[in-house]
Amino acid sequence: MSFPNERLETSLILASTRGDYEQKTGAVNVPIYLSSTFHQESFDSFGPYDYSRSGNPTRDALEKTIAELEGGTRGFAFATGIASITSAFMLLSAGDHIIITEDVYGGTFRFVTEILPRFAIEHTFVDLSNLEEVKNAIKPNTKLIYIETPSNPRLGITDIASIVEIAKTNDCLTFLDNTFMTPLHQRPLELGVDMVLHSATKFLSGHSDIVAGLAVTKDEELGKRLGFIQNSFGAVLGAQDSYTLIQNIKTMGIRFEKSTEAAQKIVDYLVKHPLVEEVFYPGLPTHPGHEIHAKQSTSAGAVLSFRLPNRATTKAFVESMKIPVFAVSLGGVESILSYPTTMSHGSMPKEEREKRGITDGLLRFSVGLEHVDDLLADFEQALKIAQEV
Ligand SMILES: *Cc1c(COP(=O)(O)O)cnc(C)c1O
Repeated sequence: MSFPNERLETSLILASTRGDYEQKTGAVNVPIYLSSTFHQESFDSFGPYDYSRSGNPTRDALEKTIAELEGGTRGFAFATGIASITSAFMLLSAGDHIIITEDVYGGTFRFVTEILPRFAIEHTFVDLSNLEEVKNAIKPNTKLIYIETPSNPRLGITDIASIVEIAKTNDCLTFLDNTFMTPLHQRPLELGVDMVLHSATKFLSGHSDIVAGLAVTKDEELGKRLGFIQNSFGAVLGAQDSYTLIQNIKTMGIRFEKSTEAAQKIVDYLVKHPLVEEVFYPGLPTHPGHEIHAKQSTSAGAVLSFRLPNRATTKAFVESMKIPVFAVSLGGVESILSYPTTMSHGSMPKEEREKRGITDGLLRFSVGLEHVDDLLADFEQALKIAQEV
């Protein structure tokens, strides 16, 4: 039971301990149930759990937590973000067509272009900020519009409510990858989206310790269908990782807020730097999606991208940065500097990549929890070296 009008920051802490076990024992943390199978007391009626692929109490606590946070009916935890996304796509059938955002996460791109066609599920990539183009891409067999906002790595913004309206008019489902905003700052289900997906590896976990995925459905019936797929596909999150994620979610509010504050300062610094050609951040008034983002989200987020002139300056800059890790991923307590060309979008053909503005000078920066003045000083010295190249 939640507190009347409970705020999400409170739910982050309390949601996982609303299960039976915790209430019975008073434990403030969810126990880790390391049990693959469950004894059935009676010959002909089974208890709530039988086998951990189908359901595990620790995973259950996590699934209830994310369902509550997103305001949905059912939550599901998967082994990775991609497992949640690919499992969601398994709701489709041969002959169906998907409309998908052009600047989708690289791993989602790979699945949609390399795997789904083998099952006769076709797709059209569309710039979802162009609503006319979306309408024109609808076919009689279009069953799904797939949204990612803000998107990776250029922080493109999609008007969620407008896409939902087009989808509903045409009897399509909408799925939204909410990884960049988290349930704290973007509420897709409240805007009519059917399913929210997360790479919980990122902000929800926040410590670069586990890989995990989450999905939440608004509708009970769709939830049942996804539950069937989760069990049939079997890409579930283990009990230990479920526990880690539950714990990490508790501090997400404060982590996200602090990193976002620093991101804004770094953006203010970068836009003024002569070597930086372009800065992508939804909090910038000059960002093309700024107004739409402000309407549907309560934070500009902790991820930004920027463009340096070429590969050589980019290489010198990356090699001179001392604080961040140079790595794939985002949303950790440590700042993470990524090079989309060879990292998140390494699986995308060069031509497709460049069409999406992912050039050799583009870098993505996920702001962690180091002191912002140290991060700024690091940028200053590394850009100075890059400038001399
Ligand atoms: C990382 C990421 C994914 C994939 O999640 P994994 O946990 O790496 O499988 C999907 N979408 C977005 C936006 C991501 O950043």
